[in-house]
Amino acid sequence: MRPLEDDLPRRRPRWGVRRVLVVAACACAAAVLLGAGPPAVPSPYVVVLGIAQDAGHPQAECAGECCASAFNDPSSGHSVASLGIVDPASGERWLIDATPDFPRQLRSLNELVDGRGAPDGILLTHAHVGHYTGLMHLGREAMGAADAVVHVMPKMKTYLSGNGPWSQLVRLGNIRLAPMADGRWVRLNERVRVRPFVVPHRDEFSETVGFVVEAGATKVAWLPDIDKWSTWRKPVEELVAEVDVAWIDGTFFGDGEVRRDMAEIPHPFIVESMQRLGALSAEARAKVRFVHFNHSNPVLNDVGPEAEAVRSGGFGLAAEGDRVELR
Ligand SMILES: [Zn+2]
Ligand SMILES: [Zn+2]
Ligand SMILES: [Zn+2]
Repeated sequence: MRPLEDDLPRRRPRWGVRRVLVVAACACAAAVLLGAGPPAVPSPYVVVLGIAQDAGHPQAECAGECCASAFNDPSSGHSVASLGIVDPASGERWLIDATPDFPRQLRSLNELVDGRGAPDGILLTHAHVGHYTGLMHLGREAMGAADAVVHVMPKMKTYLSGNGPWSQLVRLGNIRLAPMADGRWVRLNERVRVRPFVVPHRDEFSETVGFVVEAGATKVAWLPDIDKWSTWRKPVEELVAEVDVAWIDGTFFGDGEVRRDMAEIPHPFIVESMQRLGALSAEARAKVRFVHFNHSNPVLNDVGPEAEAVRSGGFGLAAEGDRVELR
């Protein structure tokens, strides 16, 4: 007969474990005596989880050179643009945009904090396919999430509530829509806050926003989609000035990159942005990192001449896994 738990001899901590605890306690006490104080609480940070335009890389049915290697070797492809926000002290994590690559991006985010399930919040920029359709993974056919918080602007709220299949997520309580307003800070927890700001874009179903994320004395901006800079009433230089890092729309490198009328899909070309921001100081230019690359964008080749031109201009290119500490 198996003895009851109480009948088993009490296990004492093995000497190895006790020794580690004693050494750790001594080290901590010594650190305090030496004036180092208790160990610092780790800072929140943001992490880039994807850098591609809505349709990803490779793009469906692309027969071009740009997607050949990504079709043959998925590890050379890229996920759709998304930014994770992490507070390692509380284990909370948030996601800017729910992309078609949501399953892998959520897994990457959860692994950072040993988390499970839906993020503590999802903040949506707009209703173009690369930015919200990942919400489907929260529904009945997939995770079956309960009350996952999705931060939305007013038109996005109306759109998701009034159109299937998204309306079913709302009706079944898989997601809970939390309203945001242009320019108003949203407090994610006691250390991290975010501010949406409206920008001009092809707003067929919703308005479009970028976000400023702030914690400690650090601010970063995430602006994957905007029409030309000239159509925004705020000069982009002001955005760059007010943050420490600005990820901005770098969808296309230049005109003629895709065989269709590019006036119908306006974005600031990287060459235009470099020209416009080229007059800024080296310090200001170093804050700028392009993101949201179309499969056709030659900067996806990190060692190509276009990527080199961006770097030699003093600007940066987003890469998956890039982190910025918010301290
Ligand atoms: Zn997009
Ligand atoms: Zn391609
Ligand atoms: Zn868009």
